[in-house]
Amino acid sequence: MNILVLGAGQLARMMSLSATHLDLHVLAYDVGSKQVINPVTFDVTPYTLAQAIDRSDAITAEFEHIPNDVLALCAKSGKFYPGAEAIKTGGDRAKEKALLDKAKVACAPYQLITEKSHFLAAIDNLGMPLVVKTCQAGYDGKGQWRVKSQDDVEPIWSEMAEFLESGTEALPHTIIAEKMIPFDREVSIIGVRGKNGQCKTYPLTENQHTNGVLTLSIAGKEKPMIEQQAQDAFNALAKELDYVGVLAIEFFDVQGQLLVNEIAPRVHNSGHWTQQGCHVSQFENHMRAVAGLPLGATDLLRPTAMINVLGQASISTDVLSVADTTSHWYGKLAKLGRKMGHINVSGNDLSQLGERLEQLAELLPEQDYPGVAQTAQSLK
Ligand code: ATP
Ligand code: MG
Ligand code: MG
Repeated sequence: MNILVLGAGQLARMMSLSATHLDLHVLAYDVGSKQVINPVTFDVTPYTLAQAIDRSDAITAEFEHIPNDVLALCAKSGKFYPGAEAIKTGGDRAKEKALLDKAKVACAPYQLITEKSHFLAAIDNLGMPLVVKTCQAGYDGKGQWRVKSQDDVEPIWSEMAEFLESGTEALPHTIIAEKMIPFDREVSIIGVRGKNGQCKTYPLTENQHTNGVLTLSIAGKEKPMIEQQAQDAFNALAKELDYVGVLAIEFFDVQGQLLVNEIAPRVHNSGHWTQQGCHVSQFENHMRAVAGLPLGATDLLRPTAMINVLGQASISTDVLSVADTTSHWYGKLAKLGRKMGHINVSGNDLSQLGERLEQLAELLPEQDYPGVAQTAQSLK
């Protein structure tokens, strides 16, 4: 069976690596270069997008910012999962909030902004501090402003106005203001829905971000009450979207109550730990779902953590000598801040995971791998 992934980065690569043993063959469409490539070897194929769609049994995506003409072409084929509407919802915070409201899933209070009076009203109604985000094109914390005091209003508005004006009729730009949530921590749930409507969720993951980018995830330390809230949100949103494939939901945990931050209609960085922490990873389950195969087990095998390797932060291969640790490299040229790979480490229990994270922290420079040493201590 042939599967085409829109987007040719590390997520397409890991989908391909996870699916080969099921005899699923993955090619990826690089939206920038308009080439169809093998996402593992990076070999360029002679296929055009139309030819690649034609020869595929299923089509999916590894990111949500895909040009409308490409989405339309894939939708027309009748074999695109999770479908153009779900991808567009994940790529536009206004659509995303409308979905959350419709499915009655709690999120931060917000206001949409297309002109200055809306911005001033948001400051009045929601109060400062505010987090202001572009509705289109944001990722890794890009396209965001923090409005903390009256002095911030004019300078931030001039940058917001520039973004609003750069929209087109075909793709209008909008902005959203959200109340800044004083969360205790951030968590996410990754789940999968099959073509028959069956849903399976992985255990909740606790996530640490540094400068808006995910740096560390841990699975295996949650309480059932919290898990249940996340599963309920997943089931409601996946059903509302008539979703097929893996869907990720990021939350703020505010004193035991979960508020959705955002959704991602795809496999997600905070689910990379499932490669070692579960029998069937998020990548394999996404491939299974879009191919119409039975879904695999999502139960936690052992507490597992993932550390992101960003930019030029080189690591010693000695990390592999820490028990039950492995590295996943994406085959990219090093660039400041770029996601280059990740390290997964498991333990039989949280305290053993803590010991192993501590061993890793000794091999990784603290400034490049924030949070690892401190988290290790908290688990032991
Ligand atoms: P991603 O790479 O996860 O897609 P993104 O660019 O879409 O990132 P968000 O997840 O919306 O951005 O925000 C990035 C981070 O900023 C969040 O993980 C959180 O730490 C912080 N943040 C975002 N919105 C709020 C909010 N309303 N209140 C408090 N902090 C927030
Ligand atoms: Mg996002
Ligand atoms: Mg996010």
